[in-house]
Amino acid sequence: MNAPDPLAPLLRELGPDIVSTDAGLRQRRAGDWSGAPKAVPPAILRPRSTDEVSRCLALCHRLGLAVVPQGGMTGLAGGGNPAPGQIVLSLDRLAGIEELDREAATLTVKAGTPLQVAQEAAQEAGLYLGLDIGSRGSCQIGGNLATNAGGNRVIRYGMARAMVLGLEVVLADGTVITALDKAMKNNTGYDLKQLFIGAEGTLGVITRAVLRLHPLPRSRTTAFLSATGFEAGLRLLRRLQSELGGVSAFEVMWPDFYDYVVGHPDTGVAPLPKGQPFYVLTEYEGNDAAADGGRVEAALAGALEAGDVTDAVIAKTEKEARDFWIVREGLALERLPHLVNYDVSLAIGRIGEFAGRCRDALAKRWPEGLSTFYGHIGDGNLHISASAGAAAGNVEHEMDEIVYGIVGDMAGSISAEHGIGILKRPYLSRSRSPAEIELMRRIKAAFDPKGILNPGKVI
Ligand code: ZN
Repeated sequence: MNAPDPLAPLLRELGPDIVSTDAGLRQRRAGDWSGAPKAVPPAILRPRSTDEVSRCLALCHRLGLAVVPQGGMTGLAGGGNPAPGQIVLSLDRLAGIEELDREAATLTVKAGTPLQVAQEAAQEAGLYLGLDIGSRGSCQIGGNLATNAGGNRVIRYGMARAMVLGLEVVLADGTVITALDKAMKNNTGYDLKQLFIGAEGTLGVITRAVLRLHPLPRSRTTAFLSATGFEAGLRLLRRLQSELGGVSAFEVMWPDFYDYVVGHPDTGVAPLPKGQPFYVLTEYEGNDAAADGGRVEAALAGALEAGDVTDAVIAKTEKEARDFWIVREGLALERLPHLVNYDVSLAIGRIGEFAGRCRDALAKRWPEGLSTFYGHIGDGNLHISASAGAAAGNVEHEMDEIVYGIVGDMAGSISAEHGIGILKRPYLSRSRSPAEIELMRRIKAAFDPKGILNPGKVI
């Protein structure tokens, strides 16, 4: 006997406008940018309103159908990848800015709105959204919140979670929870919205959000530096923070990363010579366009004099600043054979030691390979892009064991900003205790007793 066809009741009750079986669309919705297992879904639900999301989920709940919510699919952990047979719920048509409140400095957006559209709407009103990640043109606010995205300016504005004042969510059974607060203060019992942020669509589907905005900075100074090592880089960070009152970005690169990336035709000109022990891209946002550049220069001069910084260049144009960022984005890494990416966090003072231990362990096991280290150390967040070499092939599991072994040993986290998804699920217990995981399971069971929302992800 054949299994009952889930498409017939979906099409009958929701109609062909919401339920798409288009082959091309299904193909594009099979998986994200990571190498996590993917599958072409039998159908895509494409609601245009919160009410339609509610109808979709109520029906899937009644039918016991697994639903995988999807945003822009730029994730790196497979959190939006369907397993074979799972229905996809795409938020792409639930998009647009609903309101910009200048007095409250808030932006109310629908979940499918691309991040860049939200950033531009804030900017047009003379305000600023502090969230920024490389995939800004493709990723969506709903996905940014569901994964609690981090990115380039966490050191100044916090992770996605820090920008949320209000949230609307649809629960697994179709119940709509609307809590679109605009005030920073609301101490009325459990802060439920925080449970959905970072839950990767396993507890509910985010449909709208009220985002907190900041004043638009009047100046931005971007500098690229070389330093004598990790400790010198850390002293530089502390110096800039105390002399400038904080920086909006502090990105670091070890020479294995820098020398590979700037030597590659995908990257433009090298801002500084290769072969230095440590590189930093830092950015300062201020409100005094006439004086800020000079203040940054003075702080960097102090670091040069102290011997921590060996060379520094400040971007003279916006184009030059963008070129610095292109180096840091390191797109050339994608060309490494059998590339494996890591996103870990540790106590900031231990990152230098961690990078050294990891590099040595990987080089010892795969002498022909290359491991590159970079990240947002102000947030304690280190990225590793590693290849065991073309000949070694796909050794992801063995590499995971080496890297996560050292992370666990040094009390770090296996995911700083990319989430758990499918890829890191087997390693969750390296960063969370059995009691924490058990509590997560109880929360999941309370919110989604039938287990229809993004099954097989996170826990
Ligand atoms: Zn990152």
